[in-house]
Amino acid sequence: MPSPLLETISRHWGYDSFRPLQQEAMTAALEGRDSIVVMPTGGGKSLCYQVPALLKDHPTIVVSPLISLMKDQVDALIACGVKAAQWNSSQSSLEQRAIERELTEGKLKLLFVSPERLAMPSFRELLRRAGAHTFAIDEAHCISHWGHDFRPEYRQLKALREEFPDASLHAYTATATAQVRRDIAEQLALRDPLRLVGEFDRPNLTYRVLPRQDEWKQVVEVLERHKGEAGIIYCTRRRDVDDLAAKLQRAGYDATGYHAGMTQDERRKAQEKFSTEKTDIVVATVAFGMGIDRSNVRFILHTAMPKSIEHYQQETGRAGRDGLEAECVLLYSGADVVFWKTMIERPNEDGSAPDPEFVASSIRHIVDIDRYCSGTACRHRALVEYFGQKYERDSCSACDICLGETEDVPDALTVAQKILSCVYRVQQSFGIGHIISILRGEKTERIRERNHESLSTYGLLKGSSRNEVRDWIWQLINQGYLEQSDGEYPVLRLTPSSRLVLKAETEVRLRQPIAASKKKERARRMQPVESWESVDRGLFEALRIWRRAEAEERQVPPYVIFSDRTLREIARVRPTSLMELREVYGVGDSKLEAFGKALLKVVNG
Ligand code: ADP
Repeated sequence: MPSPLLETISRHWGYDSFRPLQQEAMTAALEGRDSIVVMPTGGGKSLCYQVPALLKDHPTIVVSPLISLMKDQVDALIACGVKAAQWNSSQSSLEQRAIERELTEGKLKLLFVSPERLAMPSFRELLRRAGAHTFAIDEAHCISHWGHDFRPEYRQLKALREEFPDASLHAYTATATAQVRRDIAEQLALRDPLRLVGEFDRPNLTYRVLPRQDEWKQVVEVLERHKGEAGIIYCTRRRDVDDLAAKLQRAGYDATGYHAGMTQDERRKAQEKFSTEKTDIVVATVAFGMGIDRSNVRFILHTAMPKSIEHYQQETGRAGRDGLEAECVLLYSGADVVFWKTMIERPNEDGSAPDPEFVASSIRHIVDIDRYCSGTACRHRALVEYFGQKYERDSCSACDICLGETEDVPDALTVAQKILSCVYRVQQSFGIGHIISILRGEKTERIRERNHESLSTYGLLKGSSRNEVRDWIWQLINQGYLEQSDGEYPVLRLTPSSRLVLKAETEVRLRQPIAASKKKERARRMQPVESWESVDRGLFEALRIWRRAEAEERQVPPYVIFSDRTLREIARVRPTSLMELREVYGVGDSKLEAFGKALLKVVNG
């Protein structure tokens, strides 16, 4: 006999098991025990409050920071046959009265509201009349100034405990640090909350960190690997977003730009285009993402290093939410570290110096992510350990390191010695570009003018490309064997540790991507991705087209109809009857009724 929780999940969502910690989290909500639930993005937090809400006879109130997020959630719930609504200021008083009626008559199971709305006494009075005594607080880290998305309006949620003393409060977040968790519990005055912290590993994501050598070529490579699939390209600056989006469009890619400098209307349109699958590629600053629920994002590409591992985890968390494989590529250069440090240390707008605590904490974050990028250990392990968890497996088989896509530069000590000697020979007074030219034995104007052909280091790295040499120099800077001066024309200088290299008293390790020829060989040997096994790709495409049309007609995002995972499974098992279709992952009773016949038609022609 399945539990009422599982039975509800199966009936409305068509899933047949719990994700890790869901059962515990749902039981806490069902029994009215306060809880704080930390799960990575895509871990299934929403179901933790949605499923118990269906088994209660009073409404569950969900606090959510963004209207767009609420709308998508409500649409998805309605598609699953759940009575849910949102309350927001853009609704007419007629609409609000209708919701009020449904709420007080006990017809609504879930009501989504903003924290500002909840702060209004008249609204709280309405909730009391409706008998609300379960509150789910989504994105709960917004209440903490230690979190990376602090929102002062979340602080008003403090009043809930006093005004609804019998209610249970449930906080959900993907932000993991212990400090933020403690702060959430304190701010909400949680009573002996059940604390659940999920696994931070995302095994379906493949992480790659590549030295940024030829950005355009590297971007195109990723796009070509993911033809017809959805992805987000993150850039650091608005200008880079505009430039890259325009260049991609000129090259025939259907890419949409997004950054905070665009008007609200432009941003809304861009977001909607992506959610409704009218565009697959978004080039954006970090302003894009919160509120993006599209579950079939197959790649996330960072053209530069983000400013913390938390940000990276959150941004890459948008990939593969449907549990299918997805790729996260980060193009990294030591120059990114310098960029972020300059940004952090620059004066405030009023000319005052930045807060020293802010600077120290931001620099710590930069150092951590820099270590991650230049690291040579498994990426999954590095991320999981950063969040204070253990990684039990030896190899993840899903990162550039474990897949053997990087290798040690042979005889790195000699390479490092050549570079350092060159810096020494020019009296530590030239920048990276010129040092590279000398080492490669180039015939530039500047080299001729300064007579640098006569240096003993001229042409010592002749066979290497400019990008390779640049990457090695940055690796040496990050390892402390070289430094770059500040100022408008930074020059390379030796450091106290340089001596150890020059005298061969230390080991130096430099990494590089493996040669293209070896990569091809490896790719051939790699197993086909399991989730595509036996899937009729033609049928999958046909199902996607059908889904897009349905979504358009109903004016909801396509994933609200069915996830990619469900479509792939249908394209694999080719169900011939409604009964068989009901067995497929993600097909519950109401979706079977709404779409079953149409789907069978697509499958069986
Ligand atoms: P989060 O809010 O933690 O980022 P969601 O609640 O949006 O994650 O869940 C991510 C996806 O996983 C959604 O498509 C959701 O329907 C699906 N999901 C949640 N729980 C389960 C489950 N028990 N079995 C299968 N799929 C699930």
